[in-house]
Amino acid sequence: MNAGTGAADRDRTKTRVWLITGASSGFGRSIAAAALAAGDTVVATARRPEALDDLVAAHPDRAVSAQLDVTDTARIAALVADTVLWHGRIDVVVNNAGLGLVGAVEETTDQELRDLMDLHFFGPAALVRAVLPHMRRQKAGAIVQMSSMGGRFTFPGVGAYSASKFTLEGLSEALAAEVAPHGIKVLIVEPGSFRTGFAGGGALRRAAEIPAYEATVGPVRTNLPGSDGKQEGDPDKAAAAILTALAAEEAPLRLPLGNDAIHAHLEAARAETLAWETVSRSTDFDE
Ligand code: NDP
Repeated sequence: MNAGTGAADRDRTKTRVWLITGASSGFGRSIAAAALAAGDTVVATARRPEALDDLVAAHPDRAVSAQLDVTDTARIAALVADTVLWHGRIDVVVNNAGLGLVGAVEETTDQELRDLMDLHFFGPAALVRAVLPHMRRQKAGAIVQMSSMGGRFTFPGVGAYSASKFTLEGLSEALAAEVAPHGIKVLIVEPGSFRTGFAGGGALRRAAEIPAYEATVGPVRTNLPGSDGKQEGDPDKAAAAILTALAAEEAPLRLPLGNDAIHAHLEAARAETLAWETVSRSTDFDE
């Protein structure tokens, strides 16, 4: 862990301690910057922590960088232990690290599916397990799960990505009810399209193509990378919205972000459920 000077001298009782994954770019970096601007202490983690050198240099007393690949679950426990040792507590954890994969379900290999689940589900679950004993002891804390609008609905070409985010949402919804009595909040963030590194060449993965899916998945293969740098969402504004939601007395469980993330599909799902309600209710035993 690379701490700035003076970290030990600070009065830790007045500010929060954040631990953020995937902080080298995009939302993770914006959230780290917003937390630092609010006067908090941030343990910003990344696969390449040197990408955070400027952030640490700008806030040497409150910004700390650490190496973390979130799929390395053994390292997660050690990092949480180090954070509590250095800072005495963890107030906010942000499970942010992630990337996109475009491919039809048939095109996506078992390994690609498992890699995405490691990144978006097993890593975040391990981090949650590691921090909860500390947050329960503190009787306070917040867990921010960076899901996606794709964590609530999906479309051709992003089934594997959505599956990993739906899974994270299912776990997080139950978690929220389990930890609320211990004073711990869970916030599931569901961004639409934001201008981060997400759709850029390096980050976006692509499954090997099967020509039969050209009509359904082809447009996504073109449009998603084509949106890079032009998305409407501003990650700095998303970070501000997340801080606002966390500060609320009644924080929401889910926070969609961006005009495209407002869930028109929820109305469609409700209408479908009601249209088939009689059939759905007809399957109980008669006695
Ligand atoms: P970026 O590509 O800008 O940031 C993703 C971050 O995740 C990078 O810092 C990357 O690090 C990191 N990362 C990837 N794999 C790992 C790993 N195995 N261990 C640790 N860090 C890793 O994209 P975003 O900021 O947009 O992505 C952040 C989150 O937001 C993701 O979970 C994504 O699914 C979600 N999201 C993004 C949307 C968007 O439109 N931008 C929409 C909805 C959700 P490195 O530099 O090492 O590659």
